[in-house]
Amino acid sequence: MSKTEPEIAALAGLLREASRAVVFTGAGISTESGIPDFRSPGGIWTRMAPIDFQDFVASAEMRREAWRRRFAMEETFASVSPNEGHRAVAALVARGTASAVITQNIDNLHQDSGAPADKVIEIHGNTRYAKCLDCGTRMELAPIRAHFEVHGAAPDCPACGGLLKTATISFGQAMPEAEMARAEAETRACDLFLVLGSSLVVYPAAGFPSLAKQSGAKLVIVNRDPTDQDRRADLVLHRQIGPTLSAAVNAL
Ligand SMILES: [Zn+2]
Repeated sequence: MSKTEPEIAALAGLLREASRAVVFTGAGISTESGIPDFRSPGGIWTRMAPIDFQDFVASAEMRREAWRRRFAMEETFASVSPNEGHRAVAALVARGTASAVITQNIDNLHQDSGAPADKVIEIHGNTRYAKCLDCGTRMELAPIRAHFEVHGAAPDCPACGGLLKTATISFGQAMPEAEMARAEAETRACDLFLVLGSSLVVYPAAGFPSLAKQSGAKLVIVNRDPTDQDRRADLVLHRQIGPTLSAAVNAL
């Protein structure tokens, strides 16, 4: 067996001791698959202000713009695939080490990598499909796009006539109650909280590490750059996520 680097060995050691880990992922795990980080310097939101939820609801013109932007991203979302980081997370779920994956990402890559959908808690929703804002009916994007290209607007909800929107949580939109409650319960119950690729600045992400620590869990942060929560952590690795986590999981 090859010699394991000390940092990888430390991460593997904490994973081995954990009986109920929670994995928390942010943009950093998906940038390694080629998904742009909207919030980063030079990211989409520094060039183009995100559309606020109230504006989406109030204005047909804003809805047109929101859908235009979303369909412009479709080639990116349709062409990316999970990387070894996503697969290592799925392996932690499969071997029973991790009880849940809480994600800020909206790209569905955890599910695509084989993590069961019922183990993935999406606190910012999912952009790969749409939902009716009134009745919650799910609708796929392809028929919405076909309608948009003919009529210049998304169709109304086929079930109730309400507004369809990608199933993401926009600025100004309430956090999803059920997902937030599950995420908090999982965080309180875990014995290891593993952060992958989140700068832990944006609410509510910033609150989870301290909640986990207060509940007696160990905290591990793997992120390219330092985060404000590094000082609370039991182990901090400023490294790429995919190669780091897969090496640690392979060492288990
Ligand atoms: Zn509806």
